[in-house]
Amino acid sequence: MKTDPSKGKSKGKGREVAIPGIAVSPGVAIGLVFDTSDPPAEAPRRKIAPDAIEVERQKLAAATAFSRKQISKLKTRIGVLPEEAQEEIAPLLDAHLMMLGNSRLIRGARKRIESELLGAETAVGDEAEGIIAAIQAIKDDDKAGLARRATEVRDIARRLVRNLTATPFRSLKDLPEGCILVAEELTPADAALLDPARIAGVATEEGGADGHTAIMLRALGIPAVLGAHGLTEAAERGDPAVLDGAAGRVTLHPSAATLAGAKDRLAAFARERTKLGKLRRLPAETTDGEQVELQANLEIPQELPLIAQAGAQGIGLLRTEFLFMNREDLPDEDAQVEAYTQVVEAMEGLPVTIRVLDWGGEKDMEALAEGVVPVHAGGNPALGLRGLRMLLKRPELLEVQFAAVLRVAAAGADGNVRLLLPMVTIPEEVRQAREIYERVARRLRRRGERLPEKLPPLGVMIETPGAALAADAIALEADFFAIGTNDLAMYTLAVDRAEAEVSHLYDPLHPAVLRLVQFATEAALRLRMPVSICGEMAGNPLLTPLLLGLGVRTFSMNASAIPRVKQAVRGLDIGDCARFARRVMEQSDPARIRELVAAFADGVTERA
Ligand code: PEP
Ligand code: MG
Repeated sequence: MKTDPSKGKSKGKGREVAIPGIAVSPGVAIGLVFDTSDPPAEAPRRKIAPDAIEVERQKLAAATAFSRKQISKLKTRIGVLPEEAQEEIAPLLDAHLMMLGNSRLIRGARKRIESELLGAETAVGDEAEGIIAAIQAIKDDDKAGLARRATEVRDIARRLVRNLTATPFRSLKDLPEGCILVAEELTPADAALLDPARIAGVATEEGGADGHTAIMLRALGIPAVLGAHGLTEAAERGDPAVLDGAAGRVTLHPSAATLAGAKDRLAAFARERTKLGKLRRLPAETTDGEQVELQANLEIPQELPLIAQAGAQGIGLLRTEFLFMNREDLPDEDAQVEAYTQVVEAMEGLPVTIRVLDWGGEKDMEALAEGVVPVHAGGNPALGLRGLRMLLKRPELLEVQFAAVLRVAAAGADGNVRLLLPMVTIPEEVRQAREIYERVARRLRRRGERLPEKLPPLGVMIETPGAALAADAIALEADFFAIGTNDLAMYTLAVDRAEAEVSHLYDPLHPAVLRLVQFATEAALRLRMPVSICGEMAGNPLLTPLLLGLGVRTFSMNASAIPRVKQAVRGLDIGDCARFARRVMEQSDPARIRELVAAFADGVTERA
């Protein structure tokens, strides 16, 4: 699609175009666009056994449907582009949609799977090459028309192969230094592969503010804008651009004035970072002397230096999914011991809360997919076999993880490792997990492992409305709570946290979400059980007074948010926070709550 030279003009080359999106990770990036929809997905040739034909046919059907969905979405979003660009792009997208129907490409690929026993992506590639060769052999004066048709076939085949292999970024290890990566969609596993030292910023069409991709980008400190509709159509590789991750905007072909403004913001951002860095050694203590614990969430080990730099008082949430991403086999017990040891040692005796695998939803991992279509397998993954539900169905996975964590705890022996269970809805799930935990401990002791007499605490994520409302019952089975407001908001409001289309409805300040946070916090406090917040709310300094007022004293967040939250804590009085929280909890309108939150923050700033 982008190799057609006439497209350059249609994209308003040279004219400044500002494309709004969701502000996901703060910071300013100035650089050249690197649009990932251009390069072909590299898929090795694959032959299949006759009994795999049906699976491959289904994969092809699912990838075709998903590609259709992607293009239909693009079609609804090109409204933000200049009119002449819209006129040119719309028919192209229609042509692509037709090719994803009962076209020669799809029929031919299906036939190749059956008669030549090819993997779906190999069949698509071969069929596309066949069609392109046939087009090139046509004797016609309309050379440009023939070239366009061949490009269309190549583009759609690439999209299919990309969706079939679901590995768009593995071939992009060597991104040009300082580029702004532009993509239709980035999975959390793709984001984990990005090198923050090479990339200036990331912008995508898809994604929501609290999806795992957003979390990963914040963790890596890469300025990012997601949900920027129309971006991939408007941008071309090599276009100069400015990305503002705090304002949620990508500006292509920036004017001299825009560029100067971006440079100023970049310098201001660096100055603020230096200023906040000075808070590192100061305690997180309110003006009336209440101690608050600020911990870090960790998604990939590369964050460890950042966590140390931020002065985190431990790791409140170690998402172990990174160990399972971007690989086709499962990490064994020794590999897990090694990974957790690295983190525990780096934290030098500070607490480390290791969450067992939270597979499912948007966190799809090849190693566990086992014959399931790797991309968007249909159904409703967020409500399916996710987190602890999956682990209880495959207890061998849980056993390996428990054993690894217990061995690390035994080696460290300072009682600072804790275990956390994701996606719990009923007390019975915790009981079952604990039975497995104790069984694994007995087995390790028989094997001669010197485990601490009291096993590391086993905590529960409160991240579904069911768990929050049953928090008093679940508290009787748990050693601590970690409230995951990202999923709690998603499941309470029935809004996908990673979906750009409904991101305006995703609101952790909705009173329903706040009431659940309050209910779960109070259930824990009544039993004097530790409770923390580890969803993205915890890292928003505007929300610190409210959460402190609700009784929370431990916050776990992306490391770069710690200084700002510490600054907020140090300006607050717990009595004021409690009164403020009571006032907020009387409200029924999220917009009013937002106003109150902003007004309270302004008041604090004025008082300071
Ligand atoms: C949450 O849901 O708030 C949470 C912290 O877990 P994750 O973001 O990994 O789903
Ligand atoms: Mg969660």
